[in-house]
Amino acid sequence: MYALRLLPLARPAHRVLSPHHATRSLSARASRVLSALDLPTDGSLIPGMYDGQWGGSGAVQKSICPATGEVIGQVQTANVEETQRAIQATKGASILLRRMPGPQRGEVMRQIREALGAKTAALGDLVSLEMGKIRSEGKGEVQEFVDICDYATGLSRSMAGRVLPSERPEHVIYEIPNPLGVVGILSAFNFPVAVYGWNLAIAMITGNSTIWKPSPTTPLCAIAVTRLIQPVLERNGLPGAVAALVCGDVAVGKEIVGSSDVDMVSFTGSEKIGKEVGKVVQDRFGKALLELGGNNAVIVDKDADLQMALQAVIFAAVGTAGQRCTSTRRLYLHRSISAQFISMLLKYYDSASSQTTLKAGDPLDDASLIGPLHTSGAVKLYEDALAGIQKRGGKVLTKRSGKMDVGMGGNFVWPTIVRPTNDDPCWTTETFAPILSVAEFDTLEEAIHLNNAVPQGLSASLFTTNIQSMGKWLGPEGADCGIVNINVGTSGAEIGAGFGGNKSTGWGRESGGDAWKQYVRWSAATVNYSSKMPLAQGVSFGV
Ligand code: NAD
Repeated sequence: MYALRLLPLARPAHRVLSPHHATRSLSARASRVLSALDLPTDGSLIPGMYDGQWGGSGAVQKSICPATGEVIGQVQTANVEETQRAIQATKGASILLRRMPGPQRGEVMRQIREALGAKTAALGDLVSLEMGKIRSEGKGEVQEFVDICDYATGLSRSMAGRVLPSERPEHVIYEIPNPLGVVGILSAFNFPVAVYGWNLAIAMITGNSTIWKPSPTTPLCAIAVTRLIQPVLERNGLPGAVAALVCGDVAVGKEIVGSSDVDMVSFTGSEKIGKEVGKVVQDRFGKALLELGGNNAVIVDKDADLQMALQAVIFAAVGTAGQRCTSTRRLYLHRSISAQFISMLLKYYDSASSQTTLKAGDPLDDASLIGPLHTSGAVKLYEDALAGIQKRGGKVLTKRSGKMDVGMGGNFVWPTIVRPTNDDPCWTTETFAPILSVAEFDTLEEAIHLNNAVPQGLSASLFTTNIQSMGKWLGPEGADCGIVNINVGTSGAEIGAGFGGNKSTGWGRESGGDAWKQYVRWSAATVNYSSKMPLAQGVSFGV
């Protein structure tokens, strides 16, 4: 195995840790981003586990830049025993945290917000470098973390239980929220910072410690975030395991999911893995919060403002190269405006190249709007999906599809519009790539039926100017998703509302709204301040 000497934070980031690994020099592009966060630029091994101490002696994970294929970092992950140790440390830390008054936890959260705020641009660039989303989206993702810290700080003084009237004289009923203990956070590659942020902020403010297993392909984002949080915890006399980190792959994830010392597992990822995770957590009667795949539709009705719809669809279908859980994958067009709207879309899609308005290229270049897919495996899934649609009789409507050469290697593909056959399986599955499937409808009822006729239930949007259609869309006969928008695209939610989806998207809610209520154990407490012992419902039990 690899010889690892740990890297204390105070050491210069470029220090050579292991002669076997410290032989490479990075591109100036990657070095600039990593140095801004004090991450090594010489290929030395980076400890990928933190439970108060940095360490890790599991397998080495390579972080690969999706835009260039360059190895930008090597991370020594946690092994199974170390994961168990970290879980125990997190459990111990939860006892200290739950004793801390909520508003004091709020003050710690405010300081975390400041630490993140000071590095928003640098961290955003790391998201772009490691995940591949464009610069403004990388920064936007960190901003979401900052925003949820603000929200959580406020929540620290307002998380309210309830006082309820009792039917018995001189009795009162309270509903009381208390911390759960340990929240395990398993996150997906496509939001390597924000998803953790939503969970950390709400879990911590409600008095829980956390243990985070990030995606195996975005360990550097996780390490950088944890390094920003670490000094804040230390300054406030809190153990590091209040926000533990275990980089690793499936085995590490399974340790967390299966551990009865992890009171709640907040899992963000695919439906396939989420189903497994949900069953394992259920089997031990733990709590699971599942945020799984989406298959999101936009409906453009005959009375829609087409220019607005166009902007929204392009951002949600092409943005993040189709790699948001909320990306638009299905587009239902009223027959009367369909041809016009498709030609408006194609004007943009067919102009997309490294030279034109919908510019594809280095996500770190401010002018780029289309970045790469995250891995070469994702390119293959994109290609297979397109081949399958065409084999089954569907058509590609865009001039170009397939791999795109922007002159820097990487996993770039052409955003593609397709017209699959009506019964094509692509309508009901999430392909995590910029493929937009189009079909027509004649009535709003039919469009709503099409929107709802898939297993997933994350996000849906209706473009209309008709108030009756709006009412229908939002009501009991309307869209069945967790996010139901009008004249706003399917992606780009704000943190104020609860975020999550229904059906096979997992029914979880994170972030704002009432999401915090899932991170606590609720007790209903009836208190008798009389000198009698009456029973509820007038029951008489003559003693
Ligand atoms: P994924 O399911 O492949 O992996 C998610 C996480 O699970 C990773 O950390 C992975 O290492 C871990 N994992 C894999 N097998 C495991 C197991 N058996 N036990 C425990 N952990 C295991 O997902 P991904 O490819 O990283 O992310 C893309 C998916 O995430 C898409 O389906 C997307 O829609 C979804 N997503 C959903 C939301 C949401 O809020 N609904 C947000 C972001 C992403």
